[in-house]
Amino acid sequence: MSTERTFSIIKPNAVQKNVMGEIITRFESRGLRVSAARFTRLTREKAEGFYIEHKDRPFFQSLVHYMTSGPVLLMCLEGENAVALNREIMGATDPAKAAAGTIRKDFADNIEANAVHGSDSAKSAERELAYFFDKAELQKRF
Ligand code: GDP
Repeated sequence: MSTERTFSIIKPNAVQKNVMGEIITRFESRGLRVSAARFTRLTREKAEGFYIEHKDRPFFQSLVHYMTSGPVLLMCLEGENAVALNREIMGATDPAKAAAGTIRKDFADNIEANAVHGSDSAKSAERELAYFFDKAELQKRF
């Protein structure tokens, strides 16, 4: 086990449902700590750059439209095995396939409006954190 950090977004449909606190509680109750946070609305350019690896997928424009449709909460989460633990707490991309008790099972509307983002590797986490946060915004809590 190692202490890591990962990047998390509470996406527009979950903000709209007013469950930010409930989602953060799920992270905190499993030992993850918020070490940076910003509540903001993504520009189209920022959302396109974030999802650039999906630019050739048929859902890219729809995904960017959804991610810019309302405010989001950007966060850095840290803790033991933060990357994998966050993915476990989130559940599968498609809520129809997500395990009971996961965030996506409980709060996703569909495969696109699926409540949360979480980095899929430590390398992605560092890239995504640097894309959204200045070094000075990332607090150390371990
Ligand atoms: P994640 O790592 O579980 O978020 O999944 P991906 O990296 O594969 O996809 C990124 C995001 O694109 C997902 O979280 C969804 O919001 C969206 N997405 C993924 N697959 C689909 C799809 O088949 N259709 C649509 N409309 N959106 C999708």
